[in-house]
Amino acid sequence: MSLPGKIVCIGAGYVGGPTMAMIAKNCPMIQVTVVDISQPRIDAWNSDDLPIYEPGLDEVVKACRGKNLFFSTDVDTCVAEADIIFVSVNTPTKTKGIGAGMAADLTYWESAARGIARVSKGYKIIVEKSTVPVKTAEAVEKVLTSCADSFFTFDVLSNPEFLAEGTAISDLAKPDRVLIGGKESDSGRKAVACLASVYQQWVPKENVVCSNLWSAELTKLAANAVLAQRISSMNSLSALCEATGADVQQVGYAIGMDTRIGSKFLNASVGFGGSCFQKDILNLVYICDSMGLKEVAEYWRQVIVMNDYQKTRFVHRMISTMFNTVSNKKIGILGFAFKKDTGDTRETPAIDVCRGLLTDGAKLDIYDPKVKEDLIRSELQLGKFEWDHPQAYANRVAGIKDESINVSSSAMDAARDSHGIAILTEWDEFKALDYEEVFKVMVKPAFIFDGRNLLDHNALRKIGFVVYGIGKPLDP
Ligand code: NAD
Repeated sequence: MSLPGKIVCIGAGYVGGPTMAMIAKNCPMIQVTVVDISQPRIDAWNSDDLPIYEPGLDEVVKACRGKNLFFSTDVDTCVAEADIIFVSVNTPTKTKGIGAGMAADLTYWESAARGIARVSKGYKIIVEKSTVPVKTAEAVEKVLTSCADSFFTFDVLSNPEFLAEGTAISDLAKPDRVLIGGKESDSGRKAVACLASVYQQWVPKENVVCSNLWSAELTKLAANAVLAQRISSMNSLSALCEATGADVQQVGYAIGMDTRIGSKFLNASVGFGGSCFQKDILNLVYICDSMGLKEVAEYWRQVIVMNDYQKTRFVHRMISTMFNTVSNKKIGILGFAFKKDTGDTRETPAIDVCRGLLTDGAKLDIYDPKVKEDLIRSELQLGKFEWDHPQAYANRVAGIKDESINVSSSAMDAARDSHGIAILTEWDEFKALDYEEVFKVMVKPAFIFDGRNLLDHNALRKIGFVVYGIGKPLDP
C-alpha cells in the first residue's frame, strides 16, 4: 500500500497538534499540515511558545516544522490538496437546545464537513479524529454527498485518539493500540489499509486494530467511561475508608495485585477533570437515553454523580476541619491544571473546589507551574480571557470577588500566611517542597489537604501539620 503524499488535519488543538507532529516525525516523506480557524492558535504553533504544553512536544515540532510539518489558517487550499483529511475539531457538550448539558455539540464538525465538501475534488479519505457520537460517520457522509460536486468521492474512517494529556507524546510514540474503523466495502477496506500504512511506519502491525465504523466510534466513548468509572469507584471507596478507618491506598494496592483487575487507575483523588471524561460520559448517557435504555443511562450517570460528590465532599472536609469556617482565611491552592504535566484547565476539579471555598468567604492564593493567571481567573469566572474556552463563561458565579483571589508565582508564596493549603494537582515539584519551611510561613494550626495523596502524611504530621488525605485515616 503506497503512502499518501499529503495529510491535512482540521483543528490544531490538544489532539490535532501533537498527533500530526508525530506523523510528520515518523513519516518524513508525507507533507503534514495542521489547519485551524483560530489565527492566534496557528501563530502560536508557528512560534517558540506553542499553544499547549506537553513534555517532549517542543522538540518534535521544532524538528519537523518547516520541513514536512506546517501550520496554517488557509483551510480551503490545504484541504483541497490533501489525500487524507483528519478532522480533530472540538466536540464540546451542548450548552443550549435539545440535549443541552448532555449531547455532543457537532456544530464544528458539520462546519468542517461542509468546508471539505465545498473545496474537494477526486478521491479523499476523511478521518474522524474527534470523539463523536456513534453514527456520526453516517451524518458526515450525508453532508459530503449532498453538498459536494459529482467529481468528489470519499471514504469516512473512524480513528479515535486515545492519548492522555501530559503524556501525549509518549502515548503517540508507543500507543497501546491504534483503532481504525471503516466500511466493509472494497473502497472502505483500501482506505483502512492506507491509513494503517501511515501508522505502521512506527507502530507494530499487531497494535493497529481494525473494526467496523460504529465499533470504533463507540470504543472511544466506552474507553473513557470505563477509565472514569474506575476513578469514581475508588473515590466512592475513599469515603467509606474515611468513615471506617481503612486506607484507600492500601485497599487499592491490594486489589490491584489481582491480575484480573490490574494496578493502574486505582488512585482516589479530589475528582477527575479534563475535557473528555465528563463530556464523553454525558454523551454516552444521552445516547443511551435516546435509545430508550434508561437503566443503562442511569448506570453511567452515576460515574458523574460520584465525581461531583467527591469535589463537594473535599470542600466540606476542608471547611469542617478548619473549625467550620474559612471566612476571610487565606488558603493556598497548589495546582490548578486537571492533572500534572499539562496546562489544561478544562473541567479541572480545582474550579469547583476554589468556587466552593470562595463562596464560603475564603481568600485564595493559587499557584500552578503551567497555568497562567488570566486562564485561572477566567475559569473562576472573574476575568476576561478571549481564548477558545466558551464554557468558562457559562455559569457565572454570583458573589465572588476578584480581590478574593491572588495568583502567585511560587508554591511558597501561595502558602505564606495561609491557614491551610490544598494540593489539587499532582505536580512533582509539590513533592519536592521543603515542608519545614512551608510550615514556618503558615498560620497555626497549619492544615494540609492533600487532594492527590501525593505527600508523605506521617512526615508532615511530625513537622506539626494537621493533615487530611483522600480516603486516609483521619488525624487522631
Ligand atoms: P481543542 O479545543 O483543543 O481544539 C480544537 C480546534 O479545532 C480548535 O483550535 C478550534 O479552533 C478548531 N476548529 C473548530 N472548528 C474548526 C473548523 N471548522 N476549521 C478549522 N478549525 C476548527 O480540542 P482537543 O482537545 O484537541 O479535542 C479535539 C477532539 O479530540 C475532541 O472531540 C475531543 O473530545 C477529542 N479528544 C481529546 C483528547 C484530549 O486529551 N484533549 C483526547 C482524545 C480525544
